[in-house]
Amino acid sequence: MQSETRYIFVTGGVMSGLGKGVVSSSIAKLLQLSNQKVSCVKIDPYLNYDAGTMNPIAHGEVFVTEDGGECDMDIGNYERFLNQNIPRTHNITTAQIYSSVIEAERHGEYLGACVQIIPHVTDAIKDRIRDIAKSENLDVLVVECGGTVGDIESLPFLEALRQMRLEDGSDNVIFVHVTLAPSLDVVGEQKTKPTQHSVQELRRIGIQPDLMAVRCSRPLETSAKRKISLFSNVSEKDVFSCHDVESILMVPQMLYDQGIVDVIFKKFGKVGLVNTSTNWDKWNAIVNSFVSVKDQVKIAMVGKYVKLADSYVSVNHALKHAGAKIGRNVTIDWIDSEELNGNMDKLLQYNGIIVPGGFGERGAEGIIRTANFAREKNIPYLGICFGFQLAAVAFGRYVCGLPSANSTEINPDTPDPVIDLLPEQKFIENKGGSLRLGANEIKVEDNTLGFKIYKSGTIIKRHRHRYEFNQKYLELFNTKGLQFSGYSDNKKRMEILEIPNHAFYLGIQFHPEFGSRPGYPEESFEAFIRAASNA
Ligand code: GLN
Repeated sequence: MQSETRYIFVTGGVMSGLGKGVVSSSIAKLLQLSNQKVSCVKIDPYLNYDAGTMNPIAHGEVFVTEDGGECDMDIGNYERFLNQNIPRTHNITTAQIYSSVIEAERHGEYLGACVQIIPHVTDAIKDRIRDIAKSENLDVLVVECGGTVGDIESLPFLEALRQMRLEDGSDNVIFVHVTLAPSLDVVGEQKTKPTQHSVQELRRIGIQPDLMAVRCSRPLETSAKRKISLFSNVSEKDVFSCHDVESILMVPQMLYDQGIVDVIFKKFGKVGLVNTSTNWDKWNAIVNSFVSVKDQVKIAMVGKYVKLADSYVSVNHALKHAGAKIGRNVTIDWIDSEELNGNMDKLLQYNGIIVPGGFGERGAEGIIRTANFAREKNIPYLGICFGFQLAAVAFGRYVCGLPSANSTEINPDTPDPVIDLLPEQKFIENKGGSLRLGANEIKVEDNTLGFKIYKSGTIIKRHRHRYEFNQKYLELFNTKGLQFSGYSDNKKRMEILEIPNHAFYLGIQFHPEFGSRPGYPEESFEAFIRAASNA
């Protein structure tokens, strides 16, 4: 079967966390800059149905797509690099594949056959990938297989990818293997043994890589490249150095300079590169805006999942996007809200405070105090989702005279539930995929900070929450000086809160971070960083 779409399958060896997502996104970006219609898919071989139920400290952020998918954070990388929305179907997990196979079996679709991993599960995987390629009419689809070669969970997926190469032919399918060449100290020799072993493992399951992308701290030395080429059976020009650079946005250029686009086009038998100089000019201007930033602006990010930088990766990026746009270098200090239980003065050194999304009771009191401190001390404050909700709780407690105000998520028995469960959530018991998710329309009131930021009376933003502002308290909050400037579903839900005459005090129920892109920062982040920079 000859497909219209060419596929690039990205596998990983040696260890996780090598930046396979960045390599995949960068390759996709280069093809997009070459005027190819491209998209990315992430395979997550774990047994969770989606990333929604996973702890962000262990697994990194849950990225929410426009169509309400709770996805692996690599989907966010793809969206940011390609500046295009990625549908939820592009994050494939073992649970989704097995559920579809089991469902088909229950419907009797296998006509009495014994249902097996090969061919039934592998067919389901291939169908899913081909459906995406076909329905989106793609020139190239980059498919990143999560995990590390050798993991039991990834075997059916790698087997399916192997079969696709056989069925679609080597002109249409390329394998890229991402590995690591560690050096034991700064000037030490780059070691290739782990890479050799991981390619052996890949070949054992029938996959011969076409390209090697080797992570290393310094550019890959010629001798190391030669060894990797020899042992991997990949020609030297197809071994690419992925060394550390100042910004991940520089990775496409780094791979381009080593000739990766020519190599890919040749393998695909595509001749005559299209003139892409205007695309490159735009992209380079964006990349340069990140590298040339000078003045610093210091932001405190207060939350409970602060131990792993990846827990809030989209928030971090969105802050950097905003900084780059206005020429500021945003430095972010993560502050564990559980440690903010007494003196709050350490927050005074920051130009702005951001409270990102969060769940549960732990650390909530520290966040409530933070929201109040920012209000009292006139420090620019941006509260996202949980940060919106707890800013409302703080206002209830410290301004409206409701000392026990709370969210019922934190104290179900509070006498003043200023934040309460969404009415339609009251009878939901299932935890997976059951929050209010994805893009919804929001109306923004004229003559407000919200309107000044969004310059529009209607915006569409992504959501992920179960609780919301309790309208019983609307009038009280208004009379005490807190304004709700954005709402959805005919004013059924409050979406934006602000405090007039404050340097910048904005709480938003939605998640602006998922819509922020390099060169095109999400508006509320830009406004927040401008306020924090006095720009
Ligand atoms: N825990 C809150 C809710 O469920 C906030 C969620 C979030 O910040 N994403 O509504």
